[in-house]
Amino acid sequence: RTAYLNGEFLPLDEARVPVMDRGFLFADGIYEVAAVLHGRLVDNAGHLARLDRSLAEIGIRNPHTAEEWERLETDLVGKNGVREGLVYIQVTRGVAERDFSFPKGDVAPTVLMFTQEKSIVNNPMAETGARAITVPDLRWKRRDIKSVALLAQVLAKQQASEAGVAEAFMVEDGVVTEGSSSTVFIVTKGGALVTRPLSHAVLPGITRKAVLALADETGLSFEERLINARELPEAAEAFYTSASAFVMPVVEIDGKPLGDGRPGPVARRLRELYFAFAERSEA
Ligand code: PMP
Repeated sequence: RTAYLNGEFLPLDEARVPVMDRGFLFADGIYEVAAVLHGRLVDNAGHLARLDRSLAEIGIRNPHTAEEWERLETDLVGKNGVREGLVYIQVTRGVAERDFSFPKGDVAPTVLMFTQEKSIVNNPMAETGARAITVPDLRWKRRDIKSVALLAQVLAKQQASEAGVAEAFMVEDGVVTEGSSSTVFIVTKGGALVTRPLSHAVLPGITRKAVLALADETGLSFEERLINARELPEAAEAFYTSASAFVMPVVEIDGKPLGDGRPGPVARRLRELYFAFAERSEA
């Protein structure tokens, strides 16, 4: 596999970052993940805008324009022959003597990119529906920044994995924040499509934004409000969205089946609409 590191395309297993990199020592960096479908990036402008925002929020200069990023990503996808999968980008504050405050002078950010091949369209889990558990949200207070400090999500996903389920829905003060790597939606028994409003408490999902726009276009109304954890077992449907899962129906939460235990009509419809949207992606 070919990776991209600091201006160079090279074999992934030869890519090396110094141990004094602030990403390694402090998790002082951010990342971004975009899907690849038919060899093309999906909704990449949104991902690059969020990358730029994450960097700005923590005071790392964006080393590339959106056009440059997209060219590099497209080159990497081409070199790896990826038809379906992901592009991962990571930018850290760079290599410096260990000190919590930012290094003095113009330290170059460390830029890493690699691709992963993954079946997105023919994901058997989307047919049967995924299962989820709820876990406490152990994260910091700026979850709108796509930080590489992911320990809480690692522990949440490990709990899910040990429970034999696909995703962990994180709960704080009785309210669902988001999935360990996804945005949570429910459809109430009254038929309302609900997701949490954006704030510092959650990552502004790029898939979330596209799904809400698609819902709007098809005349499906939605509410942006907090979801109480107690609403989950009562919901008619639940699903989660992310660049890598697209729209994933959830059929069981904490061991209790939702509705009739099969992917619901709203989740299935939005999954189809999102596929059609992803197919139209340009890059
Ligand atoms: N929330 C969290 C915590 C995530 O890690 C992700 C996946 N990056 C999402 C939401 C979904 O964001 P997106 O749709 O942009 O992939």
